[in-house]
Amino acid sequence: MSISQTFEHSYGTLGTDYLTPTAPTPVSSPKWLAWNHQLAEQLGWPQHWGHNDSTLSTLAGNAQFEGSKPGATAYAGHQFGSYNPQLGDGRAILLGEWRRPDGQVVDIQLKGAGPTPYSRGGDGRSPVGPVVREYLMSEAMHALGVPTTRALAAIATGDPVYRQQLEPGAVLTRVAKSHLRIGTVQFFAMTRQGTGLAELVNYVTERHYSLALKQARELEPKTTHAQVLLREVTRTLANLVAHWQSLGFIHGVLNTDNMLLCGETVDYGPCAFMDTFAAGQVFSSIDTGGRYAFGNQPGIVHWNISVLAQCLLPLIDEDQEKALALAQDSVDQFPALFTDIYSARLAAKFGLDAMRESDHALIESFFSQLEKDKLDFTLAFRWLTEVANDSLETTILRDLFTPSSGLLDWKTQWSNRRTQATPASCELMRKANPVVIPRNHWVAQAISLAEAGDNELMESLQARWQNPYHWQDDDEKFAAAPTGEQQVHRTYCGT
Ligand code: AMP
Ligand code: MG
Repeated sequence: MSISQTFEHSYGTLGTDYLTPTAPTPVSSPKWLAWNHQLAEQLGWPQHWGHNDSTLSTLAGNAQFEGSKPGATAYAGHQFGSYNPQLGDGRAILLGEWRRPDGQVVDIQLKGAGPTPYSRGGDGRSPVGPVVREYLMSEAMHALGVPTTRALAAIATGDPVYRQQLEPGAVLTRVAKSHLRIGTVQFFAMTRQGTGLAELVNYVTERHYSLALKQARELEPKTTHAQVLLREVTRTLANLVAHWQSLGFIHGVLNTDNMLLCGETVDYGPCAFMDTFAAGQVFSSIDTGGRYAFGNQPGIVHWNISVLAQCLLPLIDEDQEKALALAQDSVDQFPALFTDIYSARLAAKFGLDAMRESDHALIESFFSQLEKDKLDFTLAFRWLTEVANDSLETTILRDLFTPSSGLLDWKTQWSNRRTQATPASCELMRKANPVVIPRNHWVAQAISLAEAGDNELMESLQARWQNPYHWQDDDEKFAAAPTGEQQVHRTYCGT
């Protein structure tokens, strides 16, 4: 990093229709909830902007970093299937872009830093609860290997926010490849009826998919930015949702404004990992129809991509019939892309060399057995892993998980299928089946304590979840499934 490195503002150069200058609103008495030293290092973040009082004040919104140009971005989106023409950063402020030592450019954003022109009557604030949840969940997802926005800092503001009751407020510093969403494209395509759309599409394609654009144009010089964007977003989101499905992650609010074009998981509102397996599992209090239930996620992402395709039509090809055919072809790739990636992930989780046609029935019956016997998703897969690795007796898993008789029967079929199991497939299983996931009941406890000013549990969880694929000393605590009383059944957006 050069000493003079500072923020860049490429998105802002598109104009105030895209990014409206907006300063954070100061708060009373900021206190650290968390500082992500490791991420700061990866970003090449300047040391004098590290864990000190001046940074605390700046990240809480009481001062500004030299070179930052805070602003709020415009976007729209389909929320639970209905179009909302005007959303935008109502409680988020972009400080600018930051160039990491490896050359990658990321957004640095404050979430909960006060009202913006897009707040629509909201206070622009966030309670401590959602900030702690996002910090813990996004960092745990990163450690699990899932593409995600990151959390650089969490700061309690010292000011109350008014929700159902008074709650302590907080600000999160979020890092993303960019915060541009399917909903951003929708804003310019649908709300603005195409005005400014080409500039956005060129910008986002060049920012995230410049290599794919170059390669596509080497093959066909007339390839448009929009064509490449649609193809690459389809690919990257198929990858993302396949990863979620393989770990039992339920996003909870898969609206088009919560789907980043860069393919990172964003918006850790009512999200949760499943404990016991159920294909129809829903945690979010507002998802009363189960639209975003676990098993629906791939279909919903496919639907969201078709919305993106519709928006891009005018830019895909001048000939609209041709544009439609190209867009349709791209969107139609999604199921096969998803299935291929998801099958490869499942093969790794089950320790299979590859997925054969005849394996589908075996896998189906595994999931039905879990659902029928209400078994823990994560521990069941880790049980298979320890069985395959012949390590059941040397880990504490046997104290944490009791296979049902149905699962033991299933194991016989699975063992027969794995007669040619290799050391490599056993190793892959250990890397595909985590010991610990950020379980809801722990997140809930960490939130209660942090609200009362105690962030010790938050720190312990953050530390434990950094290394999810290996057993550690305290795992009779951290790896265990919640007891009936500990189980959390509902999660809330916390807006
Ligand atoms: P989310 O549920 O976080 O995806 O937010 C949906 C929309 O509501 C976005 O436009 C947010 O910026 C906006 N929003 C959520 N909470 C607040 C708040 N407390 N103040 C202002 N806007 C908000
Ligand atoms: Mg959102």
